[in-house]
Amino acid sequence: MQRLLTLCVLCFIAVASFASNATSLDDYLPDDVTYNPDIPTPQQVLGYEVGEWHVRPEQLVRYMEILAEKSDRFTLEVTGYTHERRPLLLLTVTAPENHSNIEQLRDQHLALADPKRKGNPDTAPLVLYMGYSIHGDEPSGSNSALLYAYYLAAAEGEKIERVLKDTIILLDPAYNPDGLARFAQWANQHKSINLVSDTQHREHVQPTPRGRVNHYWFDLNRDWLLLQHPESRARIANFQKWKPNVLTDFHEMGTDSTFFFQPGIPSRKNPNTPDENVRLTQTLAEGHAAALDEQGRLYFTEEAFDDFYVGKGSTYPDVQGAIGILFEQASSRGHAQDSINGLLEFPFTIQNQFTTSLTSMYGAHANKKWFLDYQQRFYDDSMAAAKKADFNGYVVGDETDPARLHEMLNILRQHGVQSYVLTDDLKLNGVTYQADHAAYIPLEQPQYLLIRAMFMNQKSFKDNTFYDVSAWTLPHAFNLNWATYDGRRIKIADQAWQPTTTPNHDLAADAYAYAFEWHHYFAPKTLNRLLQAGIHVRQANQAFTASTSAGDYNFTAGTVVVTKAYQQQDWAKVQQQLAAITAETGVTVHAISSGLTPRGMDLGSRNLAPVKPIQVMMLVGNDANMYEGGEAWYYLDRHVGVPLSMVDTDRFGGFDLSRYTHILMVDGRYSNLSKRDAERLQQWVRDGGVVIGQQNGARWLSQHDILAAEFVNSDEFSKKFPTAGLTFADQDHFYGQRRVAGAIFELELDATHPLTFGYPRATLPVFKDSLNAMVVPEQPFVTVATYRANDPLLAGFAASQNREVLAGKAAIIAHRHGRGRVIAFTDDINFRAFFWGTAKLLSNAIFLADQVTPSLSDEENAAEAAAEAAESAH
Ligand SMILES: [Zn+2]
Repeated sequence: MQRLLTLCVLCFIAVASFASNATSLDDYLPDDVTYNPDIPTPQQVLGYEVGEWHVRPEQLVRYMEILAEKSDRFTLEVTGYTHERRPLLLLTVTAPENHSNIEQLRDQHLALADPKRKGNPDTAPLVLYMGYSIHGDEPSGSNSALLYAYYLAAAEGEKIERVLKDTIILLDPAYNPDGLARFAQWANQHKSINLVSDTQHREHVQPTPRGRVNHYWFDLNRDWLLLQHPESRARIANFQKWKPNVLTDFHEMGTDSTFFFQPGIPSRKNPNTPDENVRLTQTLAEGHAAALDEQGRLYFTEEAFDDFYVGKGSTYPDVQGAIGILFEQASSRGHAQDSINGLLEFPFTIQNQFTTSLTSMYGAHANKKWFLDYQQRFYDDSMAAAKKADFNGYVVGDETDPARLHEMLNILRQHGVQSYVLTDDLKLNGVTYQADHAAYIPLEQPQYLLIRAMFMNQKSFKDNTFYDVSAWTLPHAFNLNWATYDGRRIKIADQAWQPTTTPNHDLAADAYAYAFEWHHYFAPKTLNRLLQAGIHVRQANQAFTASTSAGDYNFTAGTVVVTKAYQQQDWAKVQQQLAAITAETGVTVHAISSGLTPRGMDLGSRNLAPVKPIQVMMLVGNDANMYEGGEAWYYLDRHVGVPLSMVDTDRFGGFDLSRYTHILMVDGRYSNLSKRDAERLQQWVRDGGVVIGQQNGARWLSQHDILAAEFVNSDEFSKKFPTAGLTFADQDHFYGQRRVAGAIFELELDATHPLTFGYPRATLPVFKDSLNAMVVPEQPFVTVATYRANDPLLAGFAASQNREVLAGKAAIIAHRHGRGRVIAFTDDINFRAFFWGTAKLLSNAIFLADQVTPSLSDEENAAEAAAEAAESAH
């Protein structure tokens, strides 16, 4: 009995202790409104007070569903699903009477953003897009969305009702549910009754992948423009459907900071953002400041964060007649953490985000007329500026691969930009843009400034320090020919471009063999699917001409051929599968009628070698770059159909390498790999493995004598920047000059090299965010690509000193090593998954590695030549 009593007392203490860490709902809520008791509080649904535990997305969804049931101010829709099939919610919150004519209100609002219509800013509703926690481990946003949603449903009285009458609030409580789920699980599973604020405690130090990123380890706050992920596509569809006046973007920063809200650094806004945007942002900032002053809380503005890259949440709206606002709260990254300012508790961080949600809403409403009027003038001014621009539009095209052009036009379309397919060939600057394989994007459309931002290739800047990248030029990323067009006679389709599915085409049934070229972005996926189906496939290492059902056809090097010979299954079944696979990938198949060709090699040639099935492994872990790992995973999984094995570097030593054909090492320090691991890897390559290194992954291979190429020494760069006479205040500028934060460079390719097969031109834009470059080896035939010798910069900021050193240096090197291959890229070839131009280099490195014959050792080359001679001997 005594013992039972003790236990019960402990139990009581435990409960009390958890409860005491949470602020009560009353502490969070302002008391200048009354609250409808019929609306369930978060605690009534979740079973705990907001801030006591990290909300899981499923709980957040449940609470929103209940509010939508109980409140006639709310409607709820699921506008998409994350990669992990979590619903993406959008709640439309407004006065009950507005819901009955919501489409009419939307149309009144949209009229303001259409220069062809005369919208009325006096009567149109204000639209606010309130979105939270795009970085899942910055959870105070989504947790505050519980409070904000409760407030919207329950608050009563004139103050809130006036706002709801005039305003449509689009509430997006979790921009990144998969990341939020990962972090909530991490923080909650480590919570003790006695909160541990020690910064070294496990709860505060996440492993890879962190909650920041989505399922494929992508930073969704860099994908607003690029739209490679379902979360972004659903969100942008909502944005374009409503064209809000304000969009909020609630984040967290380092634990030792305070609280930040925009405006940011004045000199670092995007040049396409009007100055009036900053004044509107300042007006809202006064409201945030007043509320935080009242609570005695610290904050700052106009420091640290920029607004240059339009693919971030707080900048994207700025070039579309709206105001994007970045909020950054010091993170407790868990339930409580020590900081230089003292103990930082989770509820405190939630409170700031909730307070500024309210001040954003009330501030925008107080300036409703200004916001709506600004939006209308923004679009009228844009149209006027488009008419005055010194050219009429952009032409983009590529006659070899429909997939890259298709994807770029599809991105434009989702942003409300119209393009028109060319119906006649057009020659510009020596390039022929072919009808059906090129499109025209006229400037004279409401999204004029966004178009300019997407095609921006600025190279000189007043302020050279960038929080994020300085270039993202879409046609460069998609490796398309492009030019400005200033004429009037261009022949284009009547209707704007829309995505189409490739029509199923029948394969000629009596073919001797089938072939498809390597230009198509999805050619590697097609090849891989055939291999997975157990179909015998060969790939050409040179060009040839063959007789096809449509006459003689010139096939380029890299062409994939499916022959009747050597198939393990019935030829009819092979044909059936080939038809099904190419219907999915959109690749065009040619039916070859004979093995004897009119020109070039015949189909039985040794130069048309069988392709072996692949087993790819990638090293991952805390010492490898999470983003680049995620990009490679995403590309191989989604765009090539490869089941990628991911192995943590600290377990590498014990694993059987013999089951892999390729090992991928993206950027990373690889400090977990021992000398013995390096030796094992080297032996595995000698035995026939292909190792592919990217950025510092390639450098690691060089340092461990696996890659026989040297990286350019960092001194070569640093000695170009004299330090004499610098003052303390010059630091930011000095380091800003020295780094390449993210720019686009031009590569010169050896267009005859197998690793460049399928590339339409001998130049290729590559994204560059480091000073990595290799010295061109004396050995011929191993350098696949170099940085353009004559100033390699295409777009963005890179100091002339860095450009001078990089010019002519090697960017891609490939060589044989024993029976295996080593392939090195100095850059991130899958940058943010939208560099479709360079992304395919990874497929080339995988599928064409066998065709990399030269070694850096003369002995090995001599042995190879002898083997070749023996093979040809008779
Ligand atoms: Zn963030």
